[in-house]
Amino acid sequence: MGGFRDPIRKAGAMKNITREQLHAYLDDALNETEMAAVEQALRDSEPLRGRLRQVMQERDRGDHSLGAVWRRERLSCPTREQLGSYLLQVLDDGQQEYIEFHLTTVGCPFCVANLQDLQTLQREPGPQTRARRRRYFESSAGFLHIAREGK
Ligand SMILES: [Zn+2]
Repeated sequence: MGGFRDPIRKAGAMKNITREQLHAYLDDALNETEMAAVEQALRDSEPLRGRLRQVMQERDRGDHSLGAVWRRERLSCPTREQLGSYLLQVLDDGQQEYIEFHLTTVGCPFCVANLQDLQTLQREPGPQTRARRRRYFESSAGFLHIAREGK
């Protein structure tokens, strides 16, 4: 084990690879820089390789349903502001396409709910509707949050 650890600063704070990042790594959902950083970290760290094996076993047991889908997609979710801009079609082409892909191809439940909420606010800004939508959105988000934290 080399004591010298090459700092991969450009990749951001990758020293502590999270479970989410390991899942995303296995899902091939990281960009090239992140992918390289995770691979480097795996080469350097036996404990991390152990965690990766653990994550792989969990996935083999079928723990890759909603929770894993959520983890994977959450990493690349646009912000609510970006979704609002998407609705107004004021993003550049690349971003517009990315969010379109995220919503329609990936079908991220969080962002679809978020987008519907935004659309409703734009269309009918009645306070009652808003409150109802907001409750719906919060309960969806809460459900997904539980799914993510749950095991
Ligand atoms: Zn999303």
